[in-house]
Amino acid sequence: MKGKKLALHWKIILGMVLGVAFGYLMLQFGWGKSFVQDWIKPWGTIFINTLKLIAVPLIIASLIKGVADLNDISKLSKMGTRTVGIFLLTTMTAVTIGLVLVNLVSPGSLISENTRTELMESFGTQVDQKMENVEAVKEFGPLDALVDIVPENIFAAASSNGNMLQVIFFVILFGIGLILIPKDKGTPVMQFFEGVNEVVLKIIDLIMLAAPFGVFALLSALVVESPSIEVFKALGAYAFTVLLGIAILIFVFYPTLVKVFTGMNYRTFFKGIAPAQLLAFSTSSSAATLPVTMERVEEHLGVEKEVTSFVCPVGATVNMDGTSLYQAVAAVFISQAFGDNVTLMEQLTIVLTATLASIGSAAVPGAGLLMLVIVLESIGVNPAGIALIFAIDRPLDMCRTVANVTSDATVAVLIGKSLGKLGPPKVKEWDDNKSQTG
Ligand code: ASP
Repeated sequence: MKGKKLALHWKIILGMVLGVAFGYLMLQFGWGKSFVQDWIKPWGTIFINTLKLIAVPLIIASLIKGVADLNDISKLSKMGTRTVGIFLLTTMTAVTIGLVLVNLVSPGSLISENTRTELMESFGTQVDQKMENVEAVKEFGPLDALVDIVPENIFAAASSNGNMLQVIFFVILFGIGLILIPKDKGTPVMQFFEGVNEVVLKIIDLIMLAAPFGVFALLSALVVESPSIEVFKALGAYAFTVLLGIAILIFVFYPTLVKVFTGMNYRTFFKGIAPAQLLAFSTSSSAATLPVTMERVEEHLGVEKEVTSFVCPVGATVNMDGTSLYQAVAAVFISQAFGDNVTLMEQLTIVLTATLASIGSAAVPGAGLLMLVIVLESIGVNPAGIALIFAIDRPLDMCRTVANVTSDATVAVLIGKSLGKLGPPKVKEWDDNKSQTG
């Protein structure tokens, strides 16, 4: 009998722990930092690139098949409205949890005048550079978000991972066309995309073989590039508030939703989704994690392709609970640090603007920080205050991305259940090494 192999998530965790240890070790040597940056970090970048590379082909192949499999346009619109409704509910709940916590902990009042001035001085210029990108966002009209979803050229849209919603729009239209034409004409097209989808899933299996090494490289680079521990201490109460909120989302809110509405237990849910969570943490990007999220939700949580192929890519682009919670906490924190009180009316404004800003945030590292400007301006706080939280943003970004990805998986499971498309997982946990064993 063959011995049981280590499950994928353990291998990834091992890669992460070794990566952190290696980063610390290298910091002990004068040449260590540049060694990691020159010889280790690029492997992490290559790993992320391979994941991103597969995202657009995956969306196209699986969503065309998913929409066509629904066989009925009314089912599609039912799934669409439910998905958007649940996305909004989870995001608003996240903002509310963030606001309650930040009011209880009040981290902004703990920051001293000195630390505030120091942080503003050290990070002010970096923030100014970033803010230039936001100016364009602020000039948007009310319907521009909708206009942006409809591409004028599908090849142009598919050439950038930032245009995922545009690709999704085209693919849904294509799928609808496919439902409406005679079966004998549609079947070969369907079969083609089914084949492409299989190939793409196989490629993801192959990429995941490299995941433990990829996260090793990413985390060792993060360690050598991280700011001094002093900054972390100064912002400890703020970081604690964000992390507590994110932990509540990940460990209480989502598994409870899943348990109550589908009966799936805690262990199955986490074992199924863990590799995607670990990748989200290591890459800080829901978009880069998307291929793995889709594969895990489908094969390990048992949600059918019709649902995952729609809910996961849309979720990766618009559903960011971790980001919205963080934006709420950060907005109040910055305001408190400047000595202002945030009124109840302003807190309600935050619920609205943080929800919208998280929808507008791209699924890439640091996007949530940029969109925070919009939340700050809505309550009249100087956006330059972002300098206060700049230094500690990356570790928090890693954690909020885990919440974002877990939320997409949760909503996929809920929608799957509500449409009768949640079955037993296709891959059992002991099968986890299917790709390794062939
Ligand atoms: N990095 C996050 C994500 O990709 C977005 C953010 O909050 O910055 O989901």
